[in-house]
Amino acid sequence: MRHDGIRRAGRITVFVLASAALLGAAAGRQRIAAGARTAPARNGAPVTLLRPARVFDAEDGRAHEGWVVLVKGERIAAVGPALQVAVPAGAERIDLAGMTLLPGLMDLHSHIFLHPYNETLWNDQVLKEPLAYRTIEAVLHCRDTLMAGFTLLRDLGTEGAGYGDVSVQRAVREGLIPGPRLLVATRAIVATACYGPGPAGFAPDLELPKGGQEVSGTTEIIKAVREQIGHGADWVKVYADYRHGVGGNVPTFSEEELRTLVAEAHSAGRPVSAHATTAEGMRRATVAGVDTIEHGYGGTEDVFLLMAQHGVAYLPTLTAEEAYAEYFDGYKPGDPPTPAMKQALQAFKFAVAAGVTIGLGSDVGVYAHGTNYRELEWMVRGGMTPSQALLAATAVNAKIIRMPDELGRIRPDFLADLVAVPGDPTVDIRAVRDVRFVMKGGVVHKRPSGS
Ligand SMILES: [Zn+2]
Repeated sequence: MRHDGIRRAGRITVFVLASAALLGAAAGRQRIAAGARTAPARNGAPVTLLRPARVFDAEDGRAHEGWVVLVKGERIAAVGPALQVAVPAGAERIDLAGMTLLPGLMDLHSHIFLHPYNETLWNDQVLKEPLAYRTIEAVLHCRDTLMAGFTLLRDLGTEGAGYGDVSVQRAVREGLIPGPRLLVATRAIVATACYGPGPAGFAPDLELPKGGQEVSGTTEIIKAVREQIGHGADWVKVYADYRHGVGGNVPTFSEEELRTLVAEAHSAGRPVSAHATTAEGMRRATVAGVDTIEHGYGGTEDVFLLMAQHGVAYLPTLTAEEAYAEYFDGYKPGDPPTPAMKQALQAFKFAVAAGVTIGLGSDVGVYAHGTNYRELEWMVRGGMTPSQALLAATAVNAKIIRMPDELGRIRPDFLADLVAVPGDPTVDIRAVRDVRFVMKGGVVHKRPSGS
């Protein structure tokens, strides 16, 4: 995220991804599973048969009419045409008439410790909302996210809330609260005096708490990476550029600093996410070896080609630009795009043309949690087909977080993270606004009334 002077928020990305952290979710205390009804099979694992109108399995981009999915315990046991799936006696049947069943959606750029800036400006969230209050908000945001069909978030920085994300992740994993699987980045790493709140706009002698962990030079970078990973960061997030000096956004770290950061994170098995909105910031991050680049609004054709060559994935965060336009530029939904929104869409098109791996990452938190579907709609406006956008949110995102054999597709032995929407989202992406069924790790969190 980011903040403009006193008004915009900062973006922080650090992420380490640990399958174990995610997989632990299903093994927890299961307090939130109390409302789920599943039938015990002979060996004890509950078995559920899901009967939608069609299944988007994220294997081939198609919605398969007449397919069903069998879930056993926390994993998918079978998927295919109804007549070809053997259903054990005693299986619970859930009818999802008229609906399409999809893999659980994922958003790889969120901030559960933020809420929309037209409610509270970013500076005020960081400076005036106590950590306990922000944590309560984060808990509610997790619930809203899961109920909207997003079963995994990569949360790219707490924006001044320290290591609070590690505790929220733990509470979800242990079943204390409902929420998506969480990959967390903790504090995020920013260059000294290059991130808010301030220093510009405040008395120069004020020592303000920061939205990220400030560092300069390779020694401090190594220390910060070690601290964050030691405290539980699944990803390391770095701000490769930001507003600084006189010319707006500029690179804030040298290539050497970024290489050091990446080497230290990778040495610990943690991938790196870089906030970058300038072509030079994106270039430095790419050659330094980061794993994902966020935003990329000012990316050129050349820099997206470089990302494709280096295998750096892109999370476009198109909805954030719409939200900023609404909050600060008088934009209303349906208006012609503002210059900033046009630039973001142009970057998205460059990335598609360059063959960059594009996942779904929206910067939700800048706008309301639980409305992540807006990013799918923007990706379609940017030229993707609905199926391509759905694949980005599922199979492609699973690959980006290095869990391509556990999540993101509907196939046997994958984790049973499944959602259903009315109609066919491969025909009209707006169907994802209305998620009626949510299962995470085989546990039903939302079901259609009457089923
Ligand atoms: Zn962000």
